[in-house]
Amino acid sequence: CGIVGVIGNNKTTDILLNGLEKLEYRGYDSAGIYVNNQNGKDFLVKEVGKISKLEDAVTKDVQGTAGIGHTRWATHGKPTIENAHPHFSEDNRFYLVHNGVITNFEELKNKYLQDVDFKSQTDTEVAVQLVDHFAKTGLDGEASFRKALGLIKGSYAFAMMDKEQPDRIFVAKNKSPLLIGLGDGFNVICSDAMAMLDQTHEFVEIHDGEVVILKKGSVAISKIDGTPVTRDSYTVNLDA
Ligand code: GLU
Repeated sequence: CGIVGVIGNNKTTDILLNGLEKLEYRGYDSAGIYVNNQNGKDFLVKEVGKISKLEDAVTKDVQGTAGIGHTRWATHGKPTIENAHPHFSEDNRFYLVHNGVITNFEELKNKYLQDVDFKSQTDTEVAVQLVDHFAKTGLDGEASFRKALGLIKGSYAFAMMDKEQPDRIFVAKNKSPLLIGLGDGFNVICSDAMAMLDQTHEFVEIHDGEVVILKKGSVAISKIDGTPVTRDSYTVNLDA
């Protein structure tokens, strides 16, 4: 299972698919990508089985400058297209990928999401619907994401995109791996640096309980409560 993401590069689709191939060694049963051209058009493609199957399903028109991708190792819900990530909110506004297990998903579903028409059997869909639920109360995407994170228990690496702010990727982690990679004029995310070594050798760690707002030219790290965090990048040495 693994996560990749790109912000600010017009080869987004290729970078995501290449990254997912590099993560194949981690094991998975299905995979998917969400790509946004930051100009009003977006695409969601998911497949059960090998990354090559996903690649075949990705048509030439699936192009954009930002996106997220996922290989799934099913924990809640069978390996089907509906259960493959990215998952999305009822109104097709938020798209989210997740590695890990949300232990209190049932409780959250019962408390906040009684009226939501769920499309999958996953614990993950609860997270994206919860963000959307808070957005519908008037919060912006970032505040909704932080509010959901404050309630979610378990392990997660999350990458989320908001159609209303497609110039950024919302990132968070707790007990599941996730890194930021610094590209030349763009930025990436990945579960393992190996997935993005074709793009960069410069990485920034994310610690448990942190949120990152990743844009083309900036990496803003903070605690879930908003307290800013500063962290230096490090270089991955290929000879190591
Ligand atoms: N628990 C989530 C699911 O079953 C994520 C699994 C993973 O880490 O790939 O969809």
